[in-house]
Amino acid sequence: MIIIVMGPQGSGKSTQARLLAEKYGMQFVSVGEILRELFEDQNQVGIEARQYWIKGELVPDDLIVKIVKEFFNKHAQEKDYVIDGFPRDPGEYVVMKEVFPSEIDAIVYINLAHDLIIKRLKKRAQIEKREDETEEAIRRRLEIAQNVTFPLLQKFKDDGYRVIEVDGSPAPEIIFNEICFHLEETHTLIKPQ
Ligand code: ADP
Repeated sequence: MIIIVMGPQGSGKSTQARLLAEKYGMQFVSVGEILRELFEDQNQVGIEARQYWIKGELVPDDLIVKIVKEFFNKHAQEKDYVIDGFPRDPGEYVVMKEVFPSEIDAIVYINLAHDLIIKRLKKRAQIEKREDETEEAIRRRLEIAQNVTFPLLQKFKDDGYRVIEVDGSPAPEIIFNEICFHLEETHTLIKPQ
């Protein structure tokens, strides 16, 4: 079972993805996190990828697909995942099925208005001091989220996937309850642990 969590930066997608993984006993995987770890380990692919993410650009598909494939190969015994940050562009959309170890059950999209995104990111940048949270990188990531990643939602719908769209402006626990409600409403497979 696979649940993909999508949404712009600052929408709280990582928080929700983690909560979902915990509640349903699934493995959480964040592609952004893998990228940062690869760089910290001075891995060659990680060093190459950083040139892109530091500027807020998407890391090229060939690198991402390699990284994601490797991750699933390493965790071959696990089949249930909550995935944060993949796919993000049409190229990744095309290869996602061959990369994933099981069927996609649902796509959760967390929506957030532009002004709220900016407000949250300014606050987060002061606390986390993430390398890719300069004003320019944030602006570029938002542009890509809107123009490249967001249109994938329609592709998922056109291809018959179950898409759950939620409002990202309330408190995290309210968003989480709403996501779980929708997941359990239609997914007899999903039962909290
Ligand atoms: P955010 O979702 O806020 O951008 P992440 O930690 O998920 O934060 O990702 C950080 C960066 O890693 C992205 O801005 C992008 O450069 C890169 N990245 C993550 N996932 C992908 C992906 N699937 N394809 C290409 N680049 C990615």
